[in-house]
Amino acid sequence: MNITSLPAWLTGTVLLALLLSIATAFSPEEEKITPPARPNIIFIISDDHTSQAISAYGSKLAKTPNIDRIAREGAILYNNIISNSICGPSRATLLTGKFSHTNGYKFNEKVFDINQPVFPEELQKNGYQTAWVGKMHLGSLPHGFDYLNILPGHGSYYNSDFVNSQNQTKRYTGYVTDVVTQLSTEWLDRRDPNKPFFLVVGHKATHREWLPAIEDLGAYDNVTFPIPPTFYDNYEGRLAAQKQDMSIDKTMRLKEDLKVHVDYDAPNGNLTYTRFTPEQRTPFYNYYEGKVSKEFDEKKLSGKALVEWKYQRYMRDYLATANSLDRNIGKLLDYLDKTGLAKNTVVIYTSDQGFYLGEHGWFDKRWIYEESLKTPFVIRYPGVIKPGTQVRNVVSNVDWAPTLLSLTGTAIPGGLQGKSFLPVLTGQKANWQDQAYYHYYEYPEPHHVAPHFGLRTDRYTIARFYGPDNFWELYDIQKDPHNLKNLYGQKGYEKITASLKAQLREHIVRNKDDEALKLFESSPQ
Ligand code: CA
Repeated sequence: MNITSLPAWLTGTVLLALLLSIATAFSPEEEKITPPARPNIIFIISDDHTSQAISAYGSKLAKTPNIDRIAREGAILYNNIISNSICGPSRATLLTGKFSHTNGYKFNEKVFDINQPVFPEELQKNGYQTAWVGKMHLGSLPHGFDYLNILPGHGSYYNSDFVNSQNQTKRYTGYVTDVVTQLSTEWLDRRDPNKPFFLVVGHKATHREWLPAIEDLGAYDNVTFPIPPTFYDNYEGRLAAQKQDMSIDKTMRLKEDLKVHVDYDAPNGNLTYTRFTPEQRTPFYNYYEGKVSKEFDEKKLSGKALVEWKYQRYMRDYLATANSLDRNIGKLLDYLDKTGLAKNTVVIYTSDQGFYLGEHGWFDKRWIYEESLKTPFVIRYPGVIKPGTQVRNVVSNVDWAPTLLSLTGTAIPGGLQGKSFLPVLTGQKANWQDQAYYHYYEYPEPHHVAPHFGLRTDRYTIARFYGPDNFWELYDIQKDPHNLKNLYGQKGYEKITASLKAQLREHIVRNKDDEALKLFESSPQ
């Protein structure tokens, strides 16, 4: 390599940092694998799509052949933790490689501060073309992207508006998951083929209110979903859970969420319905009015029967909405095969967090409990990640930015709070810590989930709730994967509690979460 021919920025300390980062990412025993110097990356991130709805993760009823294909041809991660389990904050952490308290985006409906570094800027410096298409949900247009075409806020399932880099808004006719894929491949078609690319494909699916594509209406109507064992949880020993407002029983709305007797013409109604073309409206109306609402009227349900009917409808809408998501991931994989890009392109599929599909009687997310704490994450990198790799190490979304930087051989700038987990994916003995820090803030709206911070290790979860009430919870994930038995204060757990608290304190101090430190120091016993 002729040093004098390198671009001016790639000199001195930057070059040293780059070489060090490559050396760190690939230890001597991995040197026989020669990955492409700068692979392309497609990072597909959906919204609220949880592992329980993916067959690769063990779902017997969901049909996700294309996500399964990525897992089969690459790696599947079973313990990828989201450091603050809601939409915007998860994406802000993706972009910055920093926790919510550091990047300032602690809860939704807040504007992300664009005057802070984001890792795609580093990719650009390393010669990458960068783009984000679809849902971003940050209330601003961050730097670091050569091309943006994103949904304003949550966007709409049908005929959504998109906002481009120049802040111009345009409406695209069609189902949003299809449109996001179409805009993504159109950008890939016209990019500079001589440069590597980093493309974020941001999907709206499967966010509330779960409107399926026309072709997927009724896709799961012949399936009766088993009621989760924790569906009738009484929240014993868990004060915050007793006070939440996110249950299928009390919180889920028949009209807005389950589309029972929607007013399709209300001038101030849900904008999605007034956006329908006649070709979309007719089959949608026929299905939800002619079938679902009719069934609801005829059954005259109440009590337990009504809750369980709501649960079945929720599952059918959610999984039908996910059908298009998976099909569109398949379209992208086909595109990569057809264009010959597959061998030199890393493909990642993940979601901004996990979600409850009736566990604890809930929908939504937010909690440090397993179903919302963890997010699906599958990654394919031909020649580097062995097909069929299963990763049980605990990693965090704060690690995503450094991992993506090291995948591309890009120098990792100072200030990032995570660590590249590439060595974990390639099966190296990586001295990995298997711990993830968590801090959730959004309270009381919309679901009355009390703020809390905590630590998830490979065996335990410890959490400190605050706000209206101050208390601790402790779970042994191995014995109690559904977080039903709060062990905090129980006899025999004194030693592990003290040890976990000390480890949690270390994370708080290391990550400079001053608010948490203050609460930690003034904690009840
Ligand atoms: Ca979300």
